[in-house]
Amino acid sequence: MRLFASLVREGRWLCATLDSAQPECKSLPRSDLRLQKIPVGPVAVFGASNFPLASSVAGGDTAAAFAASCPVVVKSHPAHLGTSELVGRAVQKAVADSGLPEGVFSLVVGAGNAIGEALVAHPAIQAVGFTGSRRGGLALVDIASKRPVPIPVFAEMSSVNPVFALPHALETRGDTLATAYIDSVTLGVGQFCTNPGLVIALENSDSDDFIEHAAAALEKKGTQSMLTAGIAAAYADGIEHRDATAKRIATGTKNDASSGALPVLYCVSAQEFLAKPQLAEEIFWPTSVIVVCRDEDEMIAVARHLEGQLTATLLIEKDDIELARWLLPVLERKAGRILANGFPTGVEVSYAMMHGGPYPATSDSRSTSVGAMARFLRPVCYQDLPATLLPEALADQPLVAVAVAGWRTGAELKQSVNYLCGE
Ligand code: NAP
Repeated sequence: MRLFASLVREGRWLCATLDSAQPECKSLPRSDLRLQKIPVGPVAVFGASNFPLASSVAGGDTAAAFAASCPVVVKSHPAHLGTSELVGRAVQKAVADSGLPEGVFSLVVGAGNAIGEALVAHPAIQAVGFTGSRRGGLALVDIASKRPVPIPVFAEMSSVNPVFALPHALETRGDTLATAYIDSVTLGVGQFCTNPGLVIALENSDSDDFIEHAAAALEKKGTQSMLTAGIAAAYADGIEHRDATAKRIATGTKNDASSGALPVLYCVSAQEFLAKPQLAEEIFWPTSVIVVCRDEDEMIAVARHLEGQLTATLLIEKDDIELARWLLPVLERKAGRILANGFPTGVEVSYAMMHGGPYPATSDSRSTSVGAMARFLRPVCYQDLPATLLPEALADQPLVAVAVAGWRTGAELKQSVNYLCGE
């Protein structure tokens, strides 16, 4: 909320742009063209079960919609109805305290797909922000595209977040990396969209050691409770299918929380991975697959084979740079965020963050659900409009500011003028 508030105060979200008229232009006289972005209208927001605060009632999509001056209707998540109500009441109070119309924010409560389906189909809704499963996100994309007036759906869905463990990194610090990898896989009982569900390594004695250490680290992890009965049931189903397609190399230790999730680790060859697409599917659970490649070409083939992802990671040392250079152009086309020498769980809320990625990680890779990119806006160009009709941000400014600063946007221009006038 604070990040978006600073964006609004800076005025950059308007993208106000002025192309002054050039009547003397040789080929064709150019009109006076002024552009700014306007809000798309009411936005329906769906949060995910695993982020009852950050990706729910007052999460990133709601903040982005408010920043764009769009009213918000949130479909509360059935897994955290109480939290949704508490946060909803806080937002309702903030709306009242700010003297805004009550309809700026609404919370629809109740479980069942029918509520969300009706919301997305409603003619007043102009865009959708969704965080959740691929199945749910694609169902809403389908409804939105079949409306008499289709609307954009920004659906952040699932990802397996491949980690490329390059040979010199494994040679230098394979043990430490194995422990950090398993900590990341089991963080939050694996219920993170940024969980590292795949590690890709080259076949040699260092990767053998890495696999051995990772397996030993995972075996020390105990049973943990999952967020909802639905997620636990999906796990049982997912693990049963994975056991049928991949070799299980380690299982966590059962403890008192016997009804919870037991972490599981798998290992396959690159050839098996390339032949079985289901190995690249997300299991929302503390589990991961290690893919062993015969050589660098096979590693690049695995990278090319991947679907769109939220993140891709390179574990590298100085001598791995050459191979990383080959992988990087492939990974740029596959993922929204590329990390070096870290693990993808943990998403910073900041201007430069990208939490999105090519389909099917999201339904629209051009914006982000975490960060400060304004997604619920639409550009409008005003051609030759009289000054009295122009929006405030596109009004004419004294020439001196242009001469001094050469700012590209109206808002920045206005700041310069204010500065020069001593305000
Ligand atoms: P979910 O089951 O898809 O639920 C998300 C929301 O969508 C809920 O409000 C749900 O309510 C609604 N919904 C689901 N299917 C629907 C349908 N067919 N029609 C209408 N509404 C529908 O997701 P989840 O289990 O809460 O979250 C876990 C998933 O989210 C994982 O796959 C995880 O990777 C992903 N996730 C992604 C991100 C990201 O940023 N990319 C972040 C967190 C989590 P109803 O069930 O009441 O309809």
